[in-house]
Amino acid sequence: MPIRAEDRRPARARAAVVRDFLRGAAQAHVLHHAVEHDVYGAWLTDELSRHGYVISPGTLYPLLHRMETEGLLASRVEVDRGRALRLYRATEQGRRELGILRKAVAELAVELLPGIVTGRWTEAQPDEEPSGPRPAGLLGGGRTTVADE
Ligand SMILES: [Zn+2]
Repeated sequence: MPIRAEDRRPARARAAVVRDFLRGAAQAHVLHHAVEHDVYGAWLTDELSRHGYVISPGTLYPLLHRMETEGLLASRVEVDRGRALRLYRATEQGRRELGILRKAVAELAVELLPGIVTGRWTEAQPDEEPSGPRPAGLLGGGRTTVADE
Protein backbone atom coordinates (compact mmCIF):
# COMPACT_ATOMS: atom_id res chain seq x y z
CA MET A 1 0.00 0.00 0.00
CA PRO A 2 1.52 3.32 -1.00
CA ILE A 3 0.29 5.15 2.09
CA ARG A 4 2.52 4.60 5.07
CA ALA A 5 2.24 6.99 7.93
CA GLU A 6 4.24 5.59 10.81
CA ASP A 7 3.81 9.01 12.24
CA ARG A 8 4.57 9.01 15.93
CA ARG A 9 5.26 12.71 16.16
CA PRO A 10 3.05 14.62 18.57
CA ALA A 11 0.07 16.15 16.80
CA ARG A 12 1.38 19.67 17.44
CA ALA A 13 4.46 18.87 15.31
CA ARG A 14 2.29 18.42 12.23
CA ALA A 15 0.91 20.92 9.78
CA ALA A 16 -2.54 22.25 10.63
CA VAL A 17 -4.04 20.61 7.56
CA VAL A 18 -2.96 17.18 8.84
CA ARG A 19 -4.15 17.82 12.40
CA ASP A 20 -7.51 19.13 11.22
CA PHE A 21 -8.01 16.33 8.73
CA LEU A 22 -7.23 13.61 11.28
CA ARG A 23 -9.59 15.19 13.79
CA GLY A 24 -12.30 15.33 11.13
CA ALA A 25 -11.59 11.75 10.08
CA ALA A 26 -11.91 10.56 13.68
CA GLN A 27 -15.27 12.34 13.99
CA ALA A 28 -16.48 10.88 10.70
CA HIS A 29 -15.51 7.46 12.01
CA VAL A 30 -17.43 8.05 15.24
CA LEU A 31 -20.50 9.15 13.28
CA HIS A 32 -20.27 6.15 10.97
CA HIS A 33 -20.53 3.73 13.89
CA ALA A 34 -22.95 5.82 15.94
CA VAL A 35 -25.41 5.68 13.04
CA GLU A 36 -25.35 1.88 13.23
CA HIS A 37 -25.36 1.24 16.99
CA ASP A 38 -24.72 2.76 20.41
CA VAL A 39 -21.05 3.55 20.96
CA TYR A 40 -19.09 4.48 24.06
CA GLY A 41 -15.64 5.85 24.78
CA ALA A 42 -13.65 2.68 25.40
CA TRP A 43 -15.19 0.93 22.39
CA LEU A 44 -14.38 3.90 20.16
CA THR A 45 -10.80 4.04 21.43
CA ASP A 46 -10.34 0.37 20.46
CA GLU A 47 -12.11 0.77 17.13
CA LEU A 48 -10.10 3.85 16.14
CA SER A 49 -6.92 2.08 17.24
CA ARG A 50 -7.80 -0.83 14.94
CA HIS A 51 -7.70 1.72 12.11
CA GLY A 52 -4.35 3.17 13.17
CA TYR A 53 -5.57 6.19 15.12
CA VAL A 54 -4.26 6.78 18.60
CA ILE A 55 -6.80 8.87 20.49
CA SER A 56 -6.50 9.52 24.20
CA PRO A 57 -9.49 9.97 26.52
CA GLY A 58 -8.40 13.61 26.89
CA THR A 59 -9.06 14.07 23.17
CA LEU A 60 -11.95 11.66 22.64
CA TYR A 61 -14.31 12.78 25.39
CA PRO A 62 -14.21 16.51 24.60
CA LEU A 63 -14.69 15.58 20.94
CA LEU A 64 -17.78 13.47 21.76
CA HIS A 65 -19.09 16.24 23.98
CA ARG A 66 -18.67 18.81 21.20
CA MET A 67 -20.38 16.54 18.69
CA GLU A 68 -23.29 16.23 21.11
CA THR A 69 -23.45 20.00 21.66
CA GLU A 70 -23.53 20.43 17.88
CA GLY A 71 -26.50 18.07 17.65
CA LEU A 72 -24.69 15.27 15.81
CA LEU A 73 -24.86 12.80 18.70
CA ALA A 74 -27.28 12.18 21.55
CA SER A 75 -26.16 10.43 24.70
CA ARG A 76 -27.72 8.60 27.60
CA VAL A 77 -26.21 7.01 30.68
CA GLU A 78 -26.74 3.36 31.51
CA VAL A 79 -25.47 1.60 34.59
CA ASP A 80 -23.61 -1.62 33.89
CA ARG A 81 -22.57 -3.67 36.94
CA GLY A 82 -22.56 -0.57 39.09
CA ARG A 83 -20.61 1.48 36.55
CA ALA A 84 -22.14 4.36 34.65
CA LEU A 85 -21.60 4.13 30.92
CA ARG A 86 -22.41 7.02 28.57
CA LEU A 87 -23.76 5.68 25.28
CA TYR A 88 -23.81 7.81 22.14
CA ARG A 89 -26.02 7.47 19.09
CA ALA A 90 -26.11 9.60 15.96
CA THR A 91 -29.06 11.98 15.64
CA GLU A 92 -30.93 12.62 12.39
CA GLN A 93 -28.69 15.62 11.87
CA GLY A 94 -25.61 13.46 12.51
CA ARG A 95 -26.87 11.01 9.91
CA ARG A 96 -27.35 13.82 7.39
CA GLU A 97 -23.92 15.29 8.04
CA LEU A 98 -22.37 11.83 7.63
CA GLY A 99 -24.00 11.68 4.19
CA ILE A 100 -22.17 14.88 3.26
CA LEU A 101 -18.92 13.46 4.62
CA ARG A 102 -19.36 10.23 2.63
CA LYS A 103 -19.65 12.20 -0.60
CA ALA A 104 -16.60 14.31 0.26
CA VAL A 105 -14.53 11.24 1.20
CA ALA A 106 -15.55 9.37 -1.96
CA GLU A 107 -14.65 12.35 -4.13
CA LEU A 108 -11.36 12.91 -2.35
CA ALA A 109 -10.40 9.21 -2.43
CA VAL A 110 -10.90 8.98 -6.19
CA GLU A 111 -8.74 12.07 -6.64
CA LEU A 112 -5.96 11.26 -4.17
CA LEU A 113 -5.89 7.46 -4.46
CA PRO A 114 -6.66 6.63 -8.07
CA GLY A 115 -4.66 3.39 -7.94
CA ILE A 116 -6.46 2.11 -4.86
CA VAL A 117 -10.02 3.20 -5.42
CA THR A 118 -11.46 0.82 -7.96
CA GLY A 119 -14.92 0.08 -6.57
CA ARG A 120 -17.92 2.26 -7.29
CA TRP A 121 -19.49 4.06 -4.40
CA THR A 122 -23.20 4.71 -4.60
CA GLU A 123 -25.24 6.77 -2.24
CA ALA A 124 -27.98 4.13 -2.30
CA GLN A 125 -26.03 1.63 -0.16
CA PRO A 126 -23.97 3.80 2.15
CA ASP A 127 -23.86 1.21 4.96
CA GLU A 128 -22.94 -1.76 2.83
CA GLU A 129 -19.55 -3.26 3.58
CA PRO A 130 -17.21 -3.17 0.60
CA SER A 131 -16.55 -6.61 -0.84
CA GLY A 132 -13.10 -8.08 -1.23
CA PRO A 133 -10.15 -7.99 1.13
CA ARG A 134 -10.20 -5.16 3.63
CA PRO A 135 -7.17 -2.88 3.49
CA ALA A 136 -4.96 -2.93 6.55
CA GLY A 137 -6.19 0.55 7.38
CA LEU A 138 -5.79 3.96 5.86
CA LEU A 139 -2.54 4.44 7.65
CA GLY A 140 -1.05 1.16 6.46
CA GLY A 141 -0.91 -0.46 9.86
CA GLY A 142 1.05 2.41 11.39
CA ARG A 143 -0.15 4.44 14.33
CA THR A 144 -0.88 8.10 14.32
CA THR A 145 -1.99 10.33 17.15
CA VAL A 146 -5.18 12.22 16.42
CA ALA A 147 -4.51 15.11 18.76
CA ASP A 148 -2.50 16.00 21.77
CA GLU A 149 -4.27 16.54 25.05
ZN1 LIG B 1 -14.68 1.51 12.29
